[in-house]
Amino acid sequence: MSLANSNIETNLTMKPTLDPNWPSSPALESRDSVRLAKSYGLFVNGEFTPSSGNRKYWTINPANEQRLSRISESTAGDVDRAVQAARNCYEKQWSRLRPAERGKYLYRIARLIQERSREFAILETLDGGKPIRESREIDIPLAAAHFFYYAGWADKLPYAFPNRKPQPLGVAAQVIPWNFPLLMAAWKIAPALACGNTVVLKPAETTSLTALLLAEIIQQADLPPGAVNILTGHGPVGQALVEHPGVDKVAFTGSTRVGKSIQRALAATDRRCTLELGGKAAHLLFADAPIDQAVEGVVNGIYFNQGHVCCAGSRLLVEESVSDEVIEKLKQRMGTLRVGEPLDKNTDIGAIHSRQQWNTIQQYLESGQADGATMYQPDCPLPKSGFWSRPTLFTGVSQSNRISQEEIFGPVLAVQTFRTVAEAIGKANNTRYGLSAGVWTTKGSRVLNLAAQLKAGVIWANSYNQFDPASPFGGYGESGFGREGGLHGLSAYLTY
Ligand code: NAD
Repeated sequence: MSLANSNIETNLTMKPTLDPNWPSSPALESRDSVRLAKSYGLFVNGEFTPSSGNRKYWTINPANEQRLSRISESTAGDVDRAVQAARNCYEKQWSRLRPAERGKYLYRIARLIQERSREFAILETLDGGKPIRESREIDIPLAAAHFFYYAGWADKLPYAFPNRKPQPLGVAAQVIPWNFPLLMAAWKIAPALACGNTVVLKPAETTSLTALLLAEIIQQADLPPGAVNILTGHGPVGQALVEHPGVDKVAFTGSTRVGKSIQRALAATDRRCTLELGGKAAHLLFADAPIDQAVEGVVNGIYFNQGHVCCAGSRLLVEESVSDEVIEKLKQRMGTLRVGEPLDKNTDIGAIHSRQQWNTIQQYLESGQADGATMYQPDCPLPKSGFWSRPTLFTGVSQSNRISQEEIFGPVLAVQTFRTVAEAIGKANNTRYGLSAGVWTTKGSRVLNLAAQLKAGVIWANSYNQFDPASPFGGYGESGFGREGGLHGLSAYLTY
């Protein structure tokens, strides 16, 4: 016993392998289960095909700026081809299929996502920069759960909407952002297919790899050709798709700026539209809350996925009597977060998604300081290459500061205080957005009161960032309209 102990001590003294800033060894996820092609085509009518324009661009790993693969830029002709394929499939096969059969295909997709979940998780992390822990435990299982959930509804639509005759809409054009690439694809594709619609999906230009792996799964699941089509490329491809006359329904998730332009383009048409846009959520922390748990919830609310989250709790409103204690505990907790290699299972905060997003975050850090707020960042080491941002907290923020009004989409928390419930509600609702909010208090009656008065589509009480396929999600004001998830998510793809 004493010999063993002395050996350990000797080893540690002789070979100090541990850097005091990084108190544990790296635990890198292996990339072996992922086979990246040199380049990818489009997925149209059940087949991978080249783009008619033959233009390609690189998708990179934001953690080291290395090139991963080349992605095809779709043309207007490709959009035509994909919409036509979706139309043919809708009219001749998918809408005529027995609903229970449609459900079987969806179950198959869900199971295949589960079978290949490791591959999906690694790919999502490589392409997007999010920690492997999050892609493995949140993004991919939730994507499978959405397919399972909507598979179950496929043959029960008349029970979901009694005394009505739910019918599919036709061809759905779906455009998604880069922050939860596979999960957003699942949110869009699963309810559309369950209701009998066919789909043309455009993933974000910087994160197409998991959508293309999903296309492989759709082939593997033997879906009728044209039921799901995937077109890669930049904004103009999305624009050509949502404005295509052959489309019956548009489902968009992304920035408020683009959402507004889509709504303008669809004005005076009878095409159905749902918009899931930006947010600037208020996280309210009352003095009676369990402070340690609340601090954990606030950290999860803003630093999860590098703050690239539409519903991120980016504004903390804390009751003045506990604000010093809360801010101190927040700083302590921020100091324990590990920023670094996203494939490392110990990493809490991965890479900022792109140089462009990194620049945006830097501008907001400068703007916050220029407006007189006080910035705090823990002194954690950052990798040498790639795009990185330390978790950041601003105190002394006022309502008019840009960091308190505008969506930053990064790991930046703006802290303000309040003295009364009315002041907290006033400050929380003083935003053009209205996607989500969080409340920390032990008083149930206060939760119910705030839930009725906060103008946000989703309100979490004594928790944050909880998602379930059965629960609808969507916004007020400039956060958009329409709901995804649950029965509400089905009704967006049906006419009665
Ligand atoms: P973005 O609006 O720039 O792009 C989103 C998608 O739209 C991309 O696929 C892009 O290529 C495409 N696009 C760009 N211009 C277009 C146009 N004119 N017509 C049609 N499509 C076009 O947004 P982003 O930077 O990729 O994503 C971040 C934004 O998404 C944030 O504002 C975030 O809050 C929001 N978001 C919202 C939700 C939600 O559920 N409410 C979820 C995730 C992200």
